[in-house]
Amino acid sequence: MSRGGNGAEPSTPAGNTPLAQAAHLPSVRCPPRMLRMTPARRILLPAIALVLATASTAHPQDKTDGRELAIRPNPKATWDASLRDVEKVLRSAASELWQYFPERRLEPILVEPKGGPIVLFRRGPKGEYRVRLNTGSTYWCQYAFQFAHEFCHILCRYTEDEKSNKWFEESLCELASLFVLRRMAETWKTDPPYPNWKDYAKHLKEYADKRIADTTFPPDGALATWYRENEAALRKNSTDRDKNRVVAGVLLPMFEEHPQHWEAVTWLNTAASKEPRSFEQYLADWHNHCPSRHKAFVRQVAAKFDVRLQTD
Ligand SMILES: [Zn+2]
Repeated sequence: MSRGGNGAEPSTPAGNTPLAQAAHLPSVRCPPRMLRMTPARRILLPAIALVLATASTAHPQDKTDGRELAIRPNPKATWDASLRDVEKVLRSAASELWQYFPERRLEPILVEPKGGPIVLFRRGPKGEYRVRLNTGSTYWCQYAFQFAHEFCHILCRYTEDEKSNKWFEESLCELASLFVLRRMAETWKTDPPYPNWKDYAKHLKEYADKRIADTTFPPDGALATWYRENEAALRKNSTDRDKNRVVAGVLLPMFEEHPQHWEAVTWLNTAASKEPRSFEQYLADWHNHCPSRHKAFVRQVAAKFDVRLQTD
């Protein structure tokens, strides 16, 4: 299936996106051998996991207040990893965002290891979301980075409507990847999916921080100037990952400081339109559709681009 028209990243070919390339950078590869299990662990770890799952249906790792989030890696696909481990990593990544969406309910998310990274517009037979990654084996950082991005599209209620401002959603999804990996690094220090994965926490943070370090940011307070210089290119190519990452990096501290406002992305596409809108109108529409608890935050985001939104 081609990506064109089917998913949230229709303009770039499969496996050739900057994200996919970045995800394969060898410099900060997740070290899979850390996670290869010895024969003893192979027997012991699933047993421990089963005991934990049986003992408590609300493991502290799952920060979703019991709201079920069904994430289903395809059992027939070639993952070159334990399906249970894959599900735990994806669930851990998702929960770092999902905990801030107390009123949302989502259809199950079906996940494939290859063919992306992308979330398809065409849903499954029961309305399931269909996410394709571009990873495998035990490269858990890649799984988390890519899945967080596609999960953010789902949280944004991605649409097939007019794409002039899609770069902003792409930037938020890039931001979601950075946010999730840095948060997972903290979570796994004390509450990893398995006890012997605790040492892996630092690799999650390194993976995100490497991407931030490799990005050239405009000087402090100069995002608006950068935006005006890059506006035409952004509106033309929403998935220029270098540019997405500039926006993501500048906004990251706001979301890390006030993560409860992640929920605001729920209303990002409420006013989705078939006609091109200015970025100013796009932000005003987002602001107007948000509940009052998020409006000030959206205004702060807009202010980074020198866009003043009316208070109401
Ligand atoms: Zn995307």
